Amino acid sequence: MTYPEWKNSFVRDNKNASMQSFAGLEGNLGDVLHWGLSASDGENETMDPSNPPKPIPIGKANLEIEGATERIINYHENKIIDLGHEEAIVIIENGEVFKCIGDKTRVYPEVLGEKLKNAIIAHNHPVGEGEYPFSTADLNLFYNYDLLELRGIDEKYVYSIRRSNQKTIVPKVPVLETSFEDSRHLSVASEVKDRGGYYSRKKRK
Ligand SMILES: [Zn+2]
Repeated sequence: MTYPEWKNSFVRDNKNASMQSFAGLEGNLGDVLHWGLSASDGENETMDPSNPPKPIPIGKANLEIEGATERIINYHENKIIDLGHEEAIVIIENGEVFKCIGDKTRVYPEVLGEKLKNAIIAHNHPVGEGEYPFSTADLNLFYNYDLLELRGIDEKYVYSIRRSNQKTIVPKVPVLETSFEDSRHLSVASEVKDRGGYYSRKKRK
């Protein structure tokens, strides 16, 4: 799907239907507010999702160099971590790198359409906006677009879901002892365990 087709498919008055036809899915895709990569699942969007900024081409990774994508991701994660809005860095399968600029709570890499298959996306959650690991919207984007890896970074953690045969381990923590950020971590781990892929979260140093 091209960007204009995607844009045309997004009818604000008929959100769920257009989302489903866009994603080629039947059944319930969830609340429209879970569209885009969002820092949280709340209704606090400020950008018009039918008209997000176009992705900015920022270079091309030389995929013949081992570790090239990791270096590009690490470089950009360090640059986006302190922003007050969300940005996503997308490396598509052929190595092209794009930057998508969002607002305080959301960014829309979907404008890249089918190019997202097998892509690596890194994005930030601005201070105070995130759920620490991924939101529902983040998880849906990973699975709906068949990404290779989705990464998130915030002031405390860096987290990743990647396509892998490695099984996600759900940490065993007594429910009454979990903080908000840990309970979300546990529910993301158990969702990824069910849907497939390897999820991990690390404290930033
Ligand atoms: Zn996110």
